[in-house]
Amino acid sequence: MTRTVVVTGAGSGIGAAIAATLAQRDWRVVVTDLDLEAARRVAAGLPNTAARHEAAALDVTSAEAAAEVAADVSARLGLSAWVSNAGISFMHRFLDAPVERFDQTVDVNLKGVFVCGQAAAREMVRTGVSGAIVNTASMAGKQGRVPYLADYVASKFGVVGLTQAMAYELGPHRITVNCVCPGFVETPMQSRELQWEAQLRGTTPDAVRDMMLADTPLGRLEQPDDVAQAVAFLLSPDARFITGEALAVNGGAYMD
Ligand code: NAP
Repeated sequence: MTRTVVVTGAGSGIGAAIAATLAQRDWRVVVTDLDLEAARRVAAGLPNTAARHEAAALDVTSAEAAAEVAADVSARLGLSAWVSNAGISFMHRFLDAPVERFDQTVDVNLKGVFVCGQAAAREMVRTGVSGAIVNTASMAGKQGRVPYLADYVASKFGVVGLTQAMAYELGPHRITVNCVCPGFVETPMQSRELQWEAQLRGTTPDAVRDMMLADTPLGRLEQPDDVAQAVAFLLSPDARFITGEALAVNGGAYMD
């Protein structure tokens, strides 16, 4: 039987790759994003169209919107899994960082994971589904030695802790909750960060990129599909007894 997964922030980058990998593995994917057109484009390009993938608008900071999507998918298709992947970043020196940016970052990156996880888990518990939830954290969720991203680091440490707390409370309902911690992934987010970091360091985006490469023992920048494969594993029966885990997927850029 085809199982259904909702992926957030899937109109771009890592989320789009997660949608594609899960579609290849016979999941029906509900591609969601702030930008409905982007979600529709990704859904239309997914392999295995026999599974009738869908697209929906979802701003992950809205508890009402998350509950609506979860209830709708659960009622029509059955909700087996949820991937909370949406995230944002801004780069500032800590001393100059505007507090409004902190609020925005935490709202999307941490509160978004909370409200979406709650909406998904409520449906899974209500329908008695042994579900799986995966959150996209970051290598910056395990160590703060990251330049110009203090608010982002705080939000991603929060995602790792929230993942454990959700796993603890949802375990008795046979729902697993894990997160992935990517490193330097080539996406539109990274392109923006290369520009910002180059400006803040007084160097070029290529030089920043070279620093990322030099920090990665496996010797290449991470691709969105590298993260997607790990997410697919955490949603697969192979990971049935793994919960509360923060899985490093970073080519060795940070080892803990
Ligand atoms: P991306 O290319 O910018 O994609 C993020 C997607 O999330 C975009 O489609 C964006 O939509 C969407 N989004 C933003 N705010 C949203 C909201 N409130 N509700 C729903 N969707 C929203 O970034 P990415 O690199 O793929 O990042 C995906 C995840 O991986 C994030 O959680 C990020 O923190 C994490 N991550 C990335 C890296 C990396 O190196 N790239 C490393 C570690 C972790 P718009 O484009 O319309 O804003």
